[in-house]
Amino acid sequence: MSALLEVDGLSVTFTGRRGDVRAVDGLGYALEPGAALGIVGESGSGKSVAHLAILGLLPPSARVDARALRFEGQDLLTLPADARRRLRGRALSIVFQDPTSSLNPLLPIGLQLSEVLEVHESATRRDARRRSAAALSEVGIADPEARLDAYPHELSGGMRQRVMIAMALLLRPRLLVLDEPTTALDVTIQAQVMELLQDLRAKHGTAIAFITHSLGLVAGFADRVLVLYAGRVVEEARTADLYARPLHPYTRGLLASVPRLDGDLTRPLAAIPGAPASLTRSSAACAFAPRCALADDRCRREAPPLVEHAPAQRAACFHAGEPA
Ligand code: SF4
Repeated sequence: MSALLEVDGLSVTFTGRRGDVRAVDGLGYALEPGAALGIVGESGSGKSVAHLAILGLLPPSARVDARALRFEGQDLLTLPADARRRLRGRALSIVFQDPTSSLNPLLPIGLQLSEVLEVHESATRRDARRRSAAALSEVGIADPEARLDAYPHELSGGMRQRVMIAMALLLRPRLLVLDEPTTALDVTIQAQVMELLQDLRAKHGTAIAFITHSLGLVAGFADRVLVLYAGRVVEEARTADLYARPLHPYTRGLLASVPRLDGDLTRPLAAIPGAPASLTRSSAACAFAPRCALADDRCRREAPPLVEHAPAQRAACFHAGEPA
């Protein structure tokens, strides 16, 4: 099967007063149609910036380079801005963390949903309203006709996020990027939204790139997981393999910080020592070395390459899989 999205050697650099900051450094992955990929890392790991770059949503001041950045075979780097905007509406969609800042507070949600259909598909006002109500119903919003006239502030946080998911799926995109879509929600609503996303993926065959800081959240959702640290992929594996046999010390740290119902619930959760890496770091060392219990002189001198240590499981670590 050919890849829906192909990312190879993606780098994003911002130039500031104190020099260049490399926010994403050589990211690569391929996403098949209908697949679900989890992209996990702490704040500042580059996961959101990378996907804003893929969607063409970064400001012109950001420098985006890649060996390949293709969606359904089209080269996104050379696609004219207009064509890319059209693609973004129809074939590629994104849902952000905070639905409050994504919805216009001055317009009823029905108008905001209908506008998507009127702009991208020249739908009539009446047809757009009918389809918008159907979209709200599909994401589990009761009495959708009446809800179309509600303003964002009249809905709960969970409902607003459902509206954003409905909006993102209106044009039946082939790829949906979810950028921490449940972070602002409480855990019960979070679980409902995750279930909804699973159902919608199964129903429409939409490929999903799920960006999150929580390995726990992608456990039952993604087929494959990329773990990012300081703008680089440090581990990549099938989800089951990653949880059963994490190879990179950072992945192990993230997993140890996830609460487990089958473990000792009185034991405090483990934390990864130190602070996330500065993005202005030297690339001539492992970025995780200052926080790593296994770090040695070589780690402080050389950046480890991402290599396969087990079938379909790659890690960027000189001591991958060794006990701490
Ligand atoms: S390369 Fe060294 S410092 Fe980096 S994660 Fe592996 S053991 Fe730790």
